[in-house]
Amino acid sequence: MDGKKISKELLAWYDANKRELPWRHAPEPYGVWISEIMAQQTQMERVVQYWKRWMERYPDLTTLAGASEEEVLKSWEGLGYYSRARNIRKAAALIMDAHNGVFPNSFEEIRSLPGIGEYTAGAISSIALGIAEPAIDANVLRVFSRLLNISMPMKEKIAREQVESAVRNMLPADRPGDFNQALMEFGALICGKRPHCSGCPVQFQCQAYAEGVTAERPVLPPKKSIIKIEMATGVFEHNGKMLIQKRKPDDVWPGLWEFPGGVIEEGETPEQALAREYSEEVELDVVCGEKITVISYAYTRYRVTMHCYLCRSVNEGPPEPVFNEAVEGGFVLPSTLSDYAFPAGHRRLVEFMRKDMRFADRFLI
Ligand code: SF4
Repeated sequence: MDGKKISKELLAWYDANKRELPWRHAPEPYGVWISEIMAQQTQMERVVQYWKRWMERYPDLTTLAGASEEEVLKSWEGLGYYSRARNIRKAAALIMDAHNGVFPNSFEEIRSLPGIGEYTAGAISSIALGIAEPAIDANVLRVFSRLLNISMPMKEKIAREQVESAVRNMLPADRPGDFNQALMEFGALICGKRPHCSGCPVQFQCQAYAEGVTAERPVLPPKKSIIKIEMATGVFEHNGKMLIQKRKPDDVWPGLWEFPGGVIEEGETPEQALAREYSEEVELDVVCGEKITVISYAYTRYRVTMHCYLCRSVNEGPPEPVFNEAVEGGFVLPSTLSDYAFPAGHRRLVEFMRKDMRFADRFLI
């Protein structure tokens, strides 16, 4: 395989075909960093929207480091993986403290920031600072599994080492950032899950193409089993307000808000599970009322079915929740729910109620 030739062809292809992305106009570390973290497992069109909004809200590191965790999580809402947003805020604070507010300019220092791994450090270093470091993401691994015809899953250490060595050999000293972006872009647009080999500028160098095995590369690792979970969630109303609570730092989705509820245990109905969860989580005795909806969503290898109900207290007098499983909580007006960051399922529940005729008028107050 002629690495130099591939590098030249890919750069020429990139110059002619690259997508217009706002952080590409004048790449600087802060903007590239945010785009890279947002782009992990998100469609590029969505990344552009979120990135523009983010840059208006937090135009620089000083503004970002001064924002509360609550604000940053809210800005991240919809992108999932909230630990990424928390790490961005932590890294911004660290840059303010340890680097006098100036983004570090070496690969090692960038790599040592919270939430920045090998790939992201390589992308920021090469794209924004012109440092010749590889940036190997899933697209790049897929491309090289074919170019090199690698017959093992790309998660294997040896496969990754093969790819890294090949990329290092190809990285042009004068355009490392463009080359890394060319590889990623090529993987996204041409050598995707279903490769468009007929329009491929490096087909002549592709070993999988030569062997007729492009459809079998990359070799997939054994599938992890899917875990199905049934949950019950209750919207408890009092004086026109709804009860929400904030999850603990060591919980799944730390710092996000939710309606109380939990996993339906074996032998329980959703209504029984909700009564138990309310008693355990907030020390309120409730019964289920009207069923609001059922929401299904996926989270890593979990497939969650969430049964959502209105619920009410069985006792007289004002409810006094005790938050055993949350850092704080309280009753809020439905119209203010959009000020809180919720995990995907609960956010969809709020949106459902806002649009459903049975509940929509509650959101007008
Ligand atoms: Fe990918 Fe096909 Fe090009 Fe090989 S020939 S690099 S499989 S697009």
